[in-house]
Amino acid sequence: MKNRNILIIGAGIKGLSIAYQILSKNKDAAVTVVDKEPQGVYHMSDSSHNTQCGHSGLYYTPGTLKAILNQHGFELLRDYIINNKLPYNPCGKVVVGYGSEKDNNLLDKYYKNALGNGRPANKVRMLDGDALREKEPLLSKNITSALEVDDPYLFDANSILKSLEKDVTGRGGVIKHNTKVKGISSGDKDRQWTVKTSKGDIKADFIVNAAGAQVDRIAKMAGGAKSWFICPVVGVYKDIKNTTDMPISHMIYQVPSDPEIPFLDPHAIESHGGIHFGPTAMVKFGMREHYSGNFLPHLGDMIKAHFNPGTWFFYMKNLKNMPRETGRHYSNKIFAKACQGMLNESRFKIDPSALKFYKRGIRGQHISLKGVISNDFGLEKHMILGELRGITDINPGSPGFTAALAVGLVIADITASPEKYMNIDFSSKHFLENVKHLLESVRK
Ligand SMILES: Cc1cc2nc3c(=O)[nH]c(=O)nc-3n(C[C@H](O)[C@H](O)[C@H](O)COP(=O)(O)OP(=O)(O)OC[C@H]3O[C@@H](n4cnc5c(N)ncnc54)[C@H](O)[C@@H]3O)c2cc1C
Repeated sequence: MKNRNILIIGAGIKGLSIAYQILSKNKDAAVTVVDKEPQGVYHMSDSSHNTQCGHSGLYYTPGTLKAILNQHGFELLRDYIINNKLPYNPCGKVVVGYGSEKDNNLLDKYYKNALGNGRPANKVRMLDGDALREKEPLLSKNITSALEVDDPYLFDANSILKSLEKDVTGRGGVIKHNTKVKGISSGDKDRQWTVKTSKGDIKADFIVNAAGAQVDRIAKMAGGAKSWFICPVVGVYKDIKNTTDMPISHMIYQVPSDPEIPFLDPHAIESHGGIHFGPTAMVKFGMREHYSGNFLPHLGDMIKAHFNPGTWFFYMKNLKNMPRETGRHYSNKIFAKACQGMLNESRFKIDPSALKFYKRGIRGQHISLKGVISNDFGLEKHMILGELRGITDINPGSPGFTAALAVGLVIADITASPEKYMNIDFSSKHFLENVKHLLESVRK
């Protein structure tokens, strides 16, 4: 299927990685990426508002789509950063526990996940509290055990986005900024999409929806998103000056309060003499993309979300988590308490009034109409007259940045031979096997 006109909606890390992989694998493809934001302005994209951690697969059950894409994406992204001489900090990570049965069981599970998700055995180890504090003297005496993983890295999101933009256009791709998708229709005879944008109509043989927290809206325009929607989950980071002469050398994560949800409790990362803590995880319907300054939530969006029974099911299922996260979000005192647990109070006491807003990201969390949070990644098909002619990336949440180049390889393969995937159920074992095989063979 050569010379296919492929339109990618969204120029965040997913859209750019998909364009990059399609153009690298199929030199004849004609790829256009549209984004509603101006060039180089990443303030509306999740891709530049995250922890910037190359995740190493601790939290993901081996064999799931998320685990497979993250495992390969982790290495593809690291190679991309190193080959392009972009900022890279291989600082490693520790996940700390406080001695409860729950914490010990989870650390044990994450240890097994790390090995199951491809981390070399010599890069993963359990430490007792004293051994941990020898490496990280600022950490609390209440920490009894920790999982240390050597190869997670910190990346610089904007430099990667810029580099990918250059690679996409350098390979003949076109990126159109200030171009908002407003509607999608399919012509019956020519099996093409007509995508209505703020800059006029664009015809495409194949569409890829990588619109982040807006994927459900775009999917609906193409006839999809019938059984799910996106719930915006806001994450705020707060900064404080590190007044000690003891820097933190790893990324410090805590065992999550609720391991059933895909959001992790605030973590700590040393940066230029300060420590970033965060993110929070507060549900905020009506706020999909306001990243900076003061804002008003989108009232129409808020009302619409509350007419959706899935929203109410979701509230009922998260009665415990929501007040905790809302408290951390609005109160510096509660936020400080959630972070202080990691640190030795006599060495570093977090003064709530000294915490400064650092940045805010918004996870586009996939939720079913029954209010169930999806912990896995997923893809949805869009068909024209029985032919596979489009794909939506249905769960743009974490670790989407780490996984993006692997997602790109899978979607590049789908766009090159859609007939191969037409009858495969994307939630089946068969698809997982295909993805695994594809990524292993491409990366050999
Ligand atoms: C607080 C937080 C912490 C995270 N930490 C990590 C981490 O440490 N490591 C990691 O791997 N991942 C992390 N993630 C997840 C990661 O940031 C996302 O998975 C990833 O950035 C999603 O990328 P995306 O390209 O799908 O979406 P986005 O980056 O949001 O891009 C979507 C693009 O679509 C465009 N768009 C939307 N609607 C339209 C339209 N109608 N027309 C045209 N364009 C449109 C938007 O302008 C935007 O540029 C974190 C996320 C959050 C929120």
